[in-house]
Amino acid sequence: MPSSRRLRLVLLLLPLLVGVLLLAALAGRQAERQALAREAAQAGEQLSLYAGTLRTLIDRYQTLPAVLALDPELRAALQQPLAAERRQQLDRKLEAINAAAHSSSLVLIDRDGLALAASNWRLPTSFVGHSYAFRPYFQQARRQGSGRFYAVGVTSSVPGYFLSQAVRDEQGEFLGAVVVKLEFPGLEQSWSSPAETILVSDARGIVFIANQPAWRYRQLQPLSAADHAELAASRQYDRQPLEPLQQRTRREIGEHARLAEVDGPQGRRDYLWASLPLPGEGWTLHLLRQPQSVAAAGRSAAMAAAGAALALLFLLLWLQQRRRLARLRAHNQAELERMVEQRTAALRTAQDGLVQAAKLAALGQMSAALAHELNQPLTAQRMHLASLRLLLDSGRHAEAGQAVQRLDALLERMAALTGHLKTFARQSPGGLRERLDLAHVVDQALQLLEPRLRQLRPELQLELARPAWTRGDAIRLEQVLVNLLRNALDASAQQTPPRLAVHLAAEDGQWLLEVCDNGGGIAAEHLGCVFDPFFTTKPVGEGLGLGLAVSYGIVRELGGSLSAGNRDAGACFSLRLPIDPAEEPPCNQ
Ligand code: ADP
Repeated sequence: MPSSRRLRLVLLLLPLLVGVLLLAALAGRQAERQALAREAAQAGEQLSLYAGTLRTLIDRYQTLPAVLALDPELRAALQQPLAAERRQQLDRKLEAINAAAHSSSLVLIDRDGLALAASNWRLPTSFVGHSYAFRPYFQQARRQGSGRFYAVGVTSSVPGYFLSQAVRDEQGEFLGAVVVKLEFPGLEQSWSSPAETILVSDARGIVFIANQPAWRYRQLQPLSAADHAELAASRQYDRQPLEPLQQRTRREIGEHARLAEVDGPQGRRDYLWASLPLPGEGWTLHLLRQPQSVAAAGRSAAMAAAGAALALLFLLLWLQQRRRLARLRAHNQAELERMVEQRTAALRTAQDGLVQAAKLAALGQMSAALAHELNQPLTAQRMHLASLRLLLDSGRHAEAGQAVQRLDALLERMAALTGHLKTFARQSPGGLRERLDLAHVVDQALQLLEPRLRQLRPELQLELARPAWTRGDAIRLEQVLVNLLRNALDASAQQTPPRLAVHLAAEDGQWLLEVCDNGGGIAAEHLGCVFDPFFTTKPVGEGLGLGLAVSYGIVRELGGSLSAGNRDAGACFSLRLPIDPAEEPPCNQ
């Protein structure tokens, strides 16, 4: 391939390949986006389910402290100092209710924040005797009648959700509070899924529920100094170290989801991070999932797009190649046709030249014979003239008259011969279609060959139907017959005696003219090529191999045919020409 074409191909292919890559990248990105959006929607639905479970759990226990706050026994216990025995009874009562309600613990706190009785009184981590005045859920109950607060237990160190309800006397005076504590290990377990991380964060962004412990007590956003002070006062997370969780949003996906790079407990990873706020509690639920299917979707979409684009590219190249080939083929075809036309024209010119050359050659041969032929009468005439002069000188007029008559006959014969020669050498126009008698044409040809006939003295058998009307060019037909007769004479020259037969008769609506001889015939392997130009078996200088080729052409042109064969002792040529019926002599009978 020439280097310029290679360069052109590279220049064409390079942008196409870049285009394919771009397309693949775009398709990959688009597929990734769609897969992400799908996953985010799925995660959102899952989060709604989790939120529902959490909500149900909290709602179920919210009524418990409210009902207990109406209990006259508890109310009475807060109104006067308790004997040890009474307190013991209260402990047992709370223990029984707690067991029945499946809550984590129940506590009765007096107006100063001191725990009077608790369901966990038997345990070393019992709340009884501890002050919870600093806990927001107590302060909320005192201030607004009820409170809720998530915190790590200062006594038990077990985190839980505290729901409180104020206990009041008939006048509405604050007597103390009933508090129920809910712990969430059951919930965290039910959410446990290795593929997903589920978190609940409080209003400050601190994770306090997590289905994977390592994520618990992480800060999702930085805390202000006021936050720190409040946390210390309420001892909400007590001694838990609150570590920040480093994260960076890479892409937002809708309102509640994003693609984030997180420096989590398992190292730095990308997560699809969906969030759902829980308005009642001021909490937020989070679901983190590694977007594997997203990358796979992106890759396969990119590969599919690249594959499709490449297939299209190859199809285009193939089509282009096909078009080029078709153009080339059409060009070659046109070139071929042009060459064929050129060669045909050249051959036609050459053929015309050869026809003329053949005629001239024949004319040359005949001229030699005729010169010899004319010489004889000339010598005879000279002699006759000399004797005529003598006869006139001696006054023998009668004898002189006879001598002049002989001279006249000789001159007439010479004029006939030269007349034929003149017409024979002329190139006759091909289109001539005069009405003529074929038998007369035979006579003319024989007359032209007279010198040769006289020299060979063949046995001549003539059977000619007269008149044999046909249409054509007399001079050209004469040329055909001269060729056929001369070939027959040439072939039979060595025979003793040479025999020549010419038959002319009507057959199957045509004139059939046969020229046969006793010259030994045409060899079987030559029968197929005697009409070929330049085919000759005659010695160099004698035959041109054009006579039969030219004759064949002339006969065909007149709507007839010429064929060669062998019969008896020699060759036989058959010439067929259409009968011309136009001027049939009328029937006299
Ligand atoms: P040419 O006479 O110059 O050879 P023609 O075309 O007239 O060319 O004839 C071609 C050949 O056909 C002759 O050389 C000869 O071999 C063969 N041929 C033609 N006429 C006869 C015949 N009457 N008998 C045998 N062979 C013949």
